[in-house]
Amino acid sequence: MKAEQTKVGIIGIGWYGAHIGIALSKKGYFVTLFEKNSDIFNGVSGKFGVRVHAGPHYPRSPATRKNCQESYEEFCQAYPQLVNHHEYSIYALGERDADDKPSKVTPEQFRAVCKEFNTCREIEVDKSGYKNLLMVMDIEEPSAVVGERLRKTFKELFKEAKVNIVYNFTVTKTKKADNQIIVTNGRQAYQFDHVINATGYQSILPIDRLPFDMEIVYQPCLALVYIDTLSPPIKKPFSFIVMDGWFPCIMPYDDASDNSVISQRKYILTHGKWTILGSYPTSAQAQEKLSSVDEKFIQEKVKPSCEAHINHFWLEFGKRFKYATWVGAVLAKIKTEKEFRSAVTLQHKPSGIIHVIPGKISNIFDAEREALALIRKEKILQMGNYLYAERGTLHSASAEIKEKPKSSSRNTCELQPYRDLPSLFNFRGADLEQKKKKKKRKVQSEAKSVSIFAKDVESISKSRRCEKQDSPSPLSSPLQARLDPAPVREIGFIAEYSRKHARYEQVLSEGDALRL
Ligand SMILES: Cc1cc2nc3c(=O)[nH]c(=O)nc-3n(C[C@H](O)[C@H](O)[C@H](O)COP(=O)(O)OP(=O)(O)OC[C@H]3O[C@@H](n4cnc5c(N)ncnc54)[C@H](O)[C@@H]3O)c2cc1C
Repeated sequence: MKAEQTKVGIIGIGWYGAHIGIALSKKGYFVTLFEKNSDIFNGVSGKFGVRVHAGPHYPRSPATRKNCQESYEEFCQAYPQLVNHHEYSIYALGERDADDKPSKVTPEQFRAVCKEFNTCREIEVDKSGYKNLLMVMDIEEPSAVVGERLRKTFKELFKEAKVNIVYNFTVTKTKKADNQIIVTNGRQAYQFDHVINATGYQSILPIDRLPFDMEIVYQPCLALVYIDTLSPPIKKPFSFIVMDGWFPCIMPYDDASDNSVISQRKYILTHGKWTILGSYPTSAQAQEKLSSVDEKFIQEKVKPSCEAHINHFWLEFGKRFKYATWVGAVLAKIKTEKEFRSAVTLQHKPSGIIHVIPGKISNIFDAEREALALIRKEKILQMGNYLYAERGTLHSASAEIKEKPKSSSRNTCELQPYRDLPSLFNFRGADLEQKKKKKKRKVQSEAKSVSIFAKDVESISKSRRCEKQDSPSPLSSPLQARLDPAPVREIGFIAEYSRKHARYEQVLSEGDALRL
């Protein structure tokens, strides 16, 4: 079938849906995009300041690094108006992380990875202005804008490419009938030749086990937004990340509505441990956890630990940056030993739906190419009930994707940081003086000090003692109750799949997913 006669429906307008929609429309396909919100880029894509990854962020995943290197230039050329070039982008190797553990990569491994990038410049730690680091590298790596400028740019691109947009349309059901796929929100229905699920792998999910036994976890993620009070502000923004483990990261948060002169720059502070609230098997559970977050929790638990840890490496942060607010969203991740983070595109054959499991924003080009190969049925492989592109990401990275986390490795996809409250301030143990303070606090806590921190440590250590004795835990602080993982509940999912009649139908409540 010719592109001009082919109707493609795309569910979700974040980086993936928006880019694929425009790309297919430019190739002549008749594209309709559906978004459940009244505006675009309100999911993960519009919430966090993101780097356009050159690759060093993934020192343990050669597949992700290769993929970043291949798509970096493509992204910068396709969306120059959305790329923020930096004054400097620091990748540093930390001595000890928030669990008082060394970095997951050795200095030799880290140097070798950074030297893969010809823009890499090593800075002497003593002259860098940072501390408690083993190595400091400056690598050219920009970031992408978020917020209103991102939305405005894409709306213009949609117009140019003649893409149809349907807002306030939550797709709740898809149905295959003959060679067509019907998409509906329960009240209205649209019919397509092909449908792409670009909901960030959060809605309308397939029911069959994924190829290579891929397991997806959902993480409620936070970012703390700060204002840089430096006056006048530096000409271009900067980024600073400490690697590799439970370390902090500062990224530009450019949500200005235009790129005229900025009087005060915004940044987001995230942390490998403290801004990820946990790991859940369904998006609904992760969303529920995220919705329990309030300013009090941020102020009492997240902010102090993140700030203390960033100050541990960069003392100027505390003096120069002023907390403004926080943002949050749920991110789907594929669970692998090497922390593979590229996008995977595959088609569920019975339903016909092409699903994108997102990775880096620069992976939009791979997702576009692979979705197109699936639409055109060109060079396609099959595993079980799934089709995927030959030499596409799933095919070429299958060795890494197959490798599940070892029980001994501290894998990001298994993070449950707020279950383990007493270790909240562990990283301070790296500093001798702080170690003494910690010891003092413990003594105070045992003496029933009135400080909040001491109270928490006290009640949790009590609960642990009780657990050991097999008696019910007395720990019932409202915070702890809110943060303990909810029991896995039955999910509102009805699926009817009849191979015999080659018909597939699924009905699901929004955000729910079924893990087999
Ligand atoms: C803290 C954090 C930091 C990150 N840092 C980086 C980084 O530095 N660099 C990088 O490249 N990537 C980074 N990422 C990852 C990247 O941001 C995401 O992978 C990417 O934005 C996902 O885009 P998406 O289009 O798949 O999803 P989204 O942006 O979430 O878009 C999905 C859209 O689908 C809509 N939708 C959902 N369900 C339905 C439905 N049933 N019907 C209709 N519409 C629906 C949603 O409203 C949403 O608008 C980061 C992610 C997080 C959480």
